[in-house]
Amino acid sequence: EVRARFAPSPTGYLHVGGARTALFNWLFARHHGGTFVLRIEDTDALRSTEASVNVILEALHWLGLDWDEGPSVGGPYGPYRQTERLDLYREYARRLADAGRAYRCYCSSEELNERRQALLKSGQAVKYDRKCLNLSKAERDRYEAEGRVPVLRFLADDQGETVVEDLIRGSVRFENHVLDDFVIIKSDGNPTYNFAVVVDDALMRITHVIRGEDHLSNTPRQIQVYQALDLPVPRFAHVPMILGPDRQRLSKRHGATSVEQYREQGYLPEAMVNYLALLGWSLDDRHELFTREELVEHFSLERISKNPAIFDVKKIDWMNGVYLRSLPRERLAREAAARLEQAGYLPPDQREASLPRLEAILEQVQARIKHLGELVPWTYYYFTDEVQYDEKAVERFLTPEYVPAMLAEAVHGLEALESFTVEGIQAVFEGLRERRGMKLGDVLQPVRVALTGTTVSPGMYEVIHLLGRDAACRRLRRWAK
Ligand code: GLU
Repeated sequence: EVRARFAPSPTGYLHVGGARTALFNWLFARHHGGTFVLRIEDTDALRSTEASVNVILEALHWLGLDWDEGPSVGGPYGPYRQTERLDLYREYARRLADAGRAYRCYCSSEELNERRQALLKSGQAVKYDRKCLNLSKAERDRYEAEGRVPVLRFLADDQGETVVEDLIRGSVRFENHVLDDFVIIKSDGNPTYNFAVVVDDALMRITHVIRGEDHLSNTPRQIQVYQALDLPVPRFAHVPMILGPDRQRLSKRHGATSVEQYREQGYLPEAMVNYLALLGWSLDDRHELFTREELVEHFSLERISKNPAIFDVKKIDWMNGVYLRSLPRERLAREAAARLEQAGYLPPDQREASLPRLEAILEQVQARIKHLGELVPWTYYYFTDEVQYDEKAVERFLTPEYVPAMLAEAVHGLEALESFTVEGIQAVFEGLRERRGMKLGDVLQPVRVALTGTTVSPGMYEVIHLLGRDAACRRLRRWAK
């Protein structure tokens, strides 16, 4: 049985790289009918926050990456938060110490630093010099009497090599002499990442560790711990890094990097999932659009690339537009209602009642937008007369001399219309244009700016029809004489 896991450290938001790792693990588990475990790696007390845990869970939830074991759902190998597992780490640390594979180190960070500098100067490899490996009882007692609190170090095997059999990168060999006797339990009693992750992955029966390539150099250390504890080593798959278009590691400079930001800007979770899946994975060089079900069906580690993935905002925008256009109008209306309400344009008690009208409005809008974030600017003016006028548009289209009289004539025509239909509205403006011998654009563009505040909107007759006669005339009269 396949057991995969996502093990975020709750020190901030969910980065797109983390989301991609979570997705790959989720897809792999679902593809194999296995189990997807979520584990919170919160032993860094200074940087971990409860708020971050919530942001991460919420982001996974939004992406639809449900976990079978983990926070809030529990499971047979819990608890699933490292701070609730401290006894387990101490027990396994004791086992290592009993087996002669871990030892107390009393060196202070100043002392370590000094010796590191000396090693650097003499051009030697920088690693712990094992000063505390064979302390006598008397030496230990003296340190303790000085009030030094020890850390526990792993006694690494420094002969030969450790080979990571990576499912993506093949055999990756590490010379053991470069491995340090790394700290496994800090002086505050908390485990370090490289140790806790081994205890957890082993006890949680993780079969496949799929994570970012930035962890590849940790893997030989972890393998040595598995071996020292006589625990089965899982299979590893290190997925390529995500870079910005300039081939530097993806960072804030490149734009939004958190799932939360994408959600706020109005990307759809299905577009986000589809896009993230292609960051390092592909089915072939033809298909790019995949439903969640298709991704589950086709996903495999074999088709993950060794090369870095480039995060391309243009592409995710395009993809989001594709998904947005095929979104059921009803769901889009609900999104718009929620956003209008949040922006203060729609009283909460009118949310439901506004949905049919919003659906009609969105019929004109859906094909024109790329993000849900555009919903409010494209729809708010149906819900308020407080139109935000674009200064340049006003200057260009509402100040020419002919405009006030022309708009007065338009109001007149609209008021006189027997049935207020799109065809009727069209006839009013056609008549106006003929009488005045003007181009249609010179008639309609001032009308558009007066009604919507901008020069870009759906077809004017539809907009007027959707606004309704009263609102349309009221707004035109402001600029009419
Ligand atoms: N907490 C680690 C991280 O967020 C997990 C790495 C791993 O998957 O082993 O980077």
